[in-house]
Amino acid sequence: MIPFLSFNQMNAVVKNELKDNFNAFIDKGWYILGDQVKAFEHNFANFCETKYCNGVANGLDAIIIALKALNIKEGDEVIVPSNTYIATWLAVSFVGAKPIPVEPDIRTYNINPSLIEAAITPRTKAIIPVHLYGQCCEMSVIMDIANRHGLFVIEDNAQSQGARHQGKITGSFGHINATSFYPGKNLGAYGDAGATTTNDEKLWHKINTIRNYGSNKKYFNEVKGMNSRLDELQAGFLSIKLKYLNEWSETRNAIANKYLTGLQGVGDLILPYTATDTTHVYHLFVIRTKQRDLLQQHLNNSGIGTLIHYPLPPHLQEAYRELNYKKGDFPLAEEIAETCISIPMYPGLSDEDISQVIEAIKAFYHA
Ligand SMILES: *Cc1c(COP(=O)(O)O)cnc(C)c1O
Repeated sequence: MIPFLSFNQMNAVVKNELKDNFNAFIDKGWYILGDQVKAFEHNFANFCETKYCNGVANGLDAIIIALKALNIKEGDEVIVPSNTYIATWLAVSFVGAKPIPVEPDIRTYNINPSLIEAAITPRTKAIIPVHLYGQCCEMSVIMDIANRHGLFVIEDNAQSQGARHQGKITGSFGHINATSFYPGKNLGAYGDAGATTTNDEKLWHKINTIRNYGSNKKYFNEVKGMNSRLDELQAGFLSIKLKYLNEWSETRNAIANKYLTGLQGVGDLILPYTATDTTHVYHLFVIRTKQRDLLQQHLNNSGIGTLIHYPLPPHLQEAYRELNYKKGDFPLAEEIAETCISIPMYPGLSDEDISQVIEAIKAFYHA
């Protein structure tokens, strides 16, 4: 049995530190917005090479709060990828704005910068590029387009903490950037958690206010804010795990290289492609085949866990009926949804596990 995801090895590395932290946390008796949140915000800003970070309750809230801080609201349009986890779109809808989908580059699965300008209208206020599966988007081009048109950029960095484009790290390009520490993300908490990063002190201050009921001074509220604070306990845990994140990204890359070598030229498989001058942190290892459902069945029968990221693009979800999109409107997003399958990828996969996955996939094509 090779599960799709296991935390066992990562947990083994940090378990003693987490337990010590937990004991100190209980005894201290300060559970909301304390020293540990401050420390993690400092640590994560350093990691993202930005000046500021705000801890928030989850990744979806991080995008919503970024949009609110930039005053994006009803009547505005926001450019989003046609192929992303639905959270990117939901955040835009939540502030009353309209998500405008743009198709990906079929090799990288990231938003195709050359299609962005055609989607810009007088209502467009922002672009949310998503660094999908762990690969950084072509941010230099996206920032150029945004600057030329006076648009804000919010990176959705939920899947690619630590990836780079032209040497610059994810979470440091946009005006505000959002990330998630959902347990399965590369830097995962032990529950829900998220953060924003920015270099703009005013925006940092605004986000501080919004995430805490719109208040900076207890019981005095400047704006209609939310309760979306990063838990003190999760912040302490995240600071401990953050120390190992680069090492874990290297491990993910080593696993990816073994898969890339072992699966080269097998059947009709399309393997992950990393653009030049770009790095990948392999949040997911996504391969594509026309026989996706049969391959998934075969791997399932062989005791190998897989998932589909994602089986139905946002424009075809019932939740977005109101936009009146139909099948065929975003053919690349649809093609990816129909052909993609994610195979096991996490620190803790042994060489034998990796070989077993490769051999099981080869056996599928030789059968
Ligand atoms: C996980 C994820 C989110 C949302 O994060 P949560 O912490 O689950 O709210 C947003 N965007 C992308 C691309 C994600 O993968």
